[in-house]
Amino acid sequence: MTQLINEWTKSSWREFQALQQPNWPDEKEVKKVLHDLSNLPPLVFAGEIRALKQQLAKAVKGDAFLLQGGDCSENFSKVTAPTIRETLKVLLQMAVVLTYAGGKPVIKVGRIAGQFAKPRSADTEVVNGVELPSYRGDMVNQPEFTQEARIPDPNNMMKGYNMAACTLNLLRAFTRGGFGSLQRVQAWTHEFVAASPMGRSYERLAKQITQALNFMETIGISADSPQVIQTQLFTSHEALLLGYEEALTRMDSTTGGWYDCSAHMLWIGERTRQLDGAHVEFLRGVLNPIGVKIGPTYDLDNVKAMVEKLNPENEAGRITLITRLGLKNVEKVLPPLLREMKREGFNIVWSCDPMHANTYTAETGHKTRNFNDILSEITCFFETHWSEGTIPGGVHFEMTGENVTECTGGARNIIDQELANNYLTTCDPRLNAEQSLEVAFQIADMIRS
Ligand code: PEP
Ligand code: MN
Repeated sequence: MTQLINEWTKSSWREFQALQQPNWPDEKEVKKVLHDLSNLPPLVFAGEIRALKQQLAKAVKGDAFLLQGGDCSENFSKVTAPTIRETLKVLLQMAVVLTYAGGKPVIKVGRIAGQFAKPRSADTEVVNGVELPSYRGDMVNQPEFTQEARIPDPNNMMKGYNMAACTLNLLRAFTRGGFGSLQRVQAWTHEFVAASPMGRSYERLAKQITQALNFMETIGISADSPQVIQTQLFTSHEALLLGYEEALTRMDSTTGGWYDCSAHMLWIGERTRQLDGAHVEFLRGVLNPIGVKIGPTYDLDNVKAMVEKLNPENEAGRITLITRLGLKNVEKVLPPLLREMKREGFNIVWSCDPMHANTYTAETGHKTRNFNDILSEITCFFETHWSEGTIPGGVHFEMTGENVTECTGGARNIIDQELANNYLTTCDPRLNAEQSLEVAFQIADMIRS
């Protein structure tokens, strides 16, 4: 039975309930900022978005693999050349490891250049008896625990646009201008990783790639081709602030389709994926690849209806379901989901977010995740796909190129008491560069199978 569906426009979400929106103090100011944003150039282009979708269509069949990663919440103060470079480096290193051992193209998507807005489990936060509005990302307010910092300011959306633009500018320069060339694969090692077991494993692999490129040159095949000297990093963020997303939504002049040009890929979070909510309404009308987070308490009929609503033509590459089920639940709740989606014949990129349902608070009070739990959820994700005859198509990490101590475990075995040493995140804990590389080595062989 076909349902009657309202006509979509880039503003039709306004007729639906939008959860997790800031309490802006001045609506007039919001309108002005959104108007100004709607006149500014797009950050990414429809052609690039279509290219990503085509690559994701390959991941549906297992002919490519999605690597999505970056900060839980980017910070304006970290929009600096070194931070962007280090994050890019570790993503490129992970991609090289996965491509080389996994034997298939890796689609690189950063949680970067726009991941500035956060859904929160509570509207307020209490510290030492003082209650203040929660931090909702730099595009809304500031993380410092003061009354002033926590007031939402719509001008932060304009700042966010500008921060995204300069991040993208540097990423484009790095990936197109030679920094991301495979000929430099040995130069990407992070200082603090170099002497570690992960650094040594990476060094060996990088040497093999350099030798292969030298061999190509020797026999007269140019190793200067764009495939070798250029790379592509797509951008993504959670489409949370719908006013901002609407302002960046533009009609493509060549096809007449609507694209949200704030990033190549947008995702809907676990907290805002209501079937009759504003986020699903907005995203059903833009032609970008869409990710949807799926937590352990999902309702099967609801997920099916959502996939149909977001992708009525069952276009391959349009939908990535990002399962974040938790080590304790994955074995039980992933199989029925895979089975049913397979039975329906839905084209889906299945991606594993092993971070969000494995969070716990250490005795020191730090929100953290353990490396072994992360690895175990991924392993179970792969094994479940193999036994159900479905395709594990990607992974989704919160990670950084910095030498942080936010997740426990890994080769250096960070313990709870060490979390305070360099705990920098303003939201969720991230894998550091060494832990990120380690996870890439651990899962590379699973991709090939
Ligand atoms: C996130 O990706 O940072 C996030 C909030 O995830 P989820 O919606 O899955 O909880
Ligand atoms: Mn997060």
